Amino acid sequence: MKKWFAVIGNPISHSLSPTMHETWLKQLDINASYIPIHVEQNQLEQAVESLKLLGCSGWNVTIPFKEAIIPFLDDVDESAKGIGAVNTVVKTRNNKYVGYNTDGLGFIESLGPILPEYNILLIGAGGAARGIAHAFKRKGYTQLAIANRTLEKAMGLVDELKTGQALTLEEAENMLNKFDIIVQTTSLGMKNNDASLPIQLNRLKENAIVADIVYNPLVTPFLEEAKKYNVRTVNGLGMLVHQGALAFSYWNGVKPDSEEIIQQLIEQLGGNYVNR
Ligand code: NAP
Repeated sequence: MKKWFAVIGNPISHSLSPTMHETWLKQLDINASYIPIHVEQNQLEQAVESLKLLGCSGWNVTIPFKEAIIPFLDDVDESAKGIGAVNTVVKTRNNKYVGYNTDGLGFIESLGPILPEYNILLIGAGGAARGIAHAFKRKGYTQLAIANRTLEKAMGLVDELKTGQALTLEEAENMLNKFDIIVQTTSLGMKNNDASLPIQLNRLKENAIVADIVYNPLVTPFLEEAKKYNVRTVNGLGMLVHQGALAFSYWNGVKPDSEEIIQQLIEQLGGNYVNR
C-alpha cells in the first residue's frame, strides 16, 4: 500500500515541508506522499484520531500544536520529553505513535562541525530556544548562556537545563567577545516584523559563528549586521531542512540529501543567499 505522511498546523499553507519531503520521496524513489493539513484549534484530538484511522505513517506537527499533541500520543522520546514539545510523530511497527523533537538537533546539524569547548550564546528563551538549548545539552555542549528580554524566562530555562548562565540582553552585548557561537532565536527580523537587533554586535569575537533561526527573509537584519564583521553566518533554512531530514530518516530509514533541497528552497523564497 502507498504510504503517506503529513504536516498538521494552523496556519499551514506557507509551510515549505511538503515541497521538501515530496522532493526527497521522489529522489529516493519511495512510493509515498506528504500532505499539508490545516487543523482547527479545537479539533486537534479528532485530527490525530483521523490520521491514525486513515493509516498515516508519520507526521510533522507545527504551530500551535507542538505541546498540545502530547496527550494524544502513546509515548514521547527523550528528545521531546525535556522540552514538552513534539514536531515529529513516528508510527512504530506495533502501531504505536511516538513523539520526537528534531528541531534542536536539526539546528545543531545546520552549523556543521563545531568544537565541544565552544562557548554558545542563545538570544531568546522561547519555544525554539528551549529546543535548541536542550539539544545542545544532550549533545554534550554545556558552555551555554541564554540571554532574553525577559530575564526570568532565561533563568527558568537555565534551571531546567541544570547548566549554563542566564543574562540580560545588555550583559550579553557587553561580554559578546566571550562567545564562539551566537544564535538569534527571537522573532525579531521576521518579514513584516520588527527589524531592530536584539543586541549590538560591535564586541563580536573574530572567527565567531553567527546564526539566525529566522529564514524569511533569508538574510535577517541580524545576519546583515554580522556580515559587516566578516564572520561566518548561518541562516535558519538549514535548521528547517535538517529537522525535516531527521524526521524523514525516522520514517523511512534513510537520510535524504540536505544541500540540494536548501538551494531549491532558496529559489522558492526568491533569494540567492550563500552561507559562508
Ligand atoms: P516564542 O516562543 O514566541 O519566543 C519568542 C522569543 O522572542 C522570546 O524569547 C521573546 O522574548 C523574544 N522576543 C520577541 N519580541 C522581542 C523583542 N521585541 N525584543 C527582544 N526579544 C523579543 O517563539 P519561538 O517559537 O521560539 O520562535 C522564535 C522564532 O524562531 C520565530 O521567528 C520562528 O519563525 C523561528 N523558528 C524557526 C525555525 C526554523 O526551522 N528555522 C523553527 C522554529 C522557530 P520575551 O521572553 O522577553 O518575550
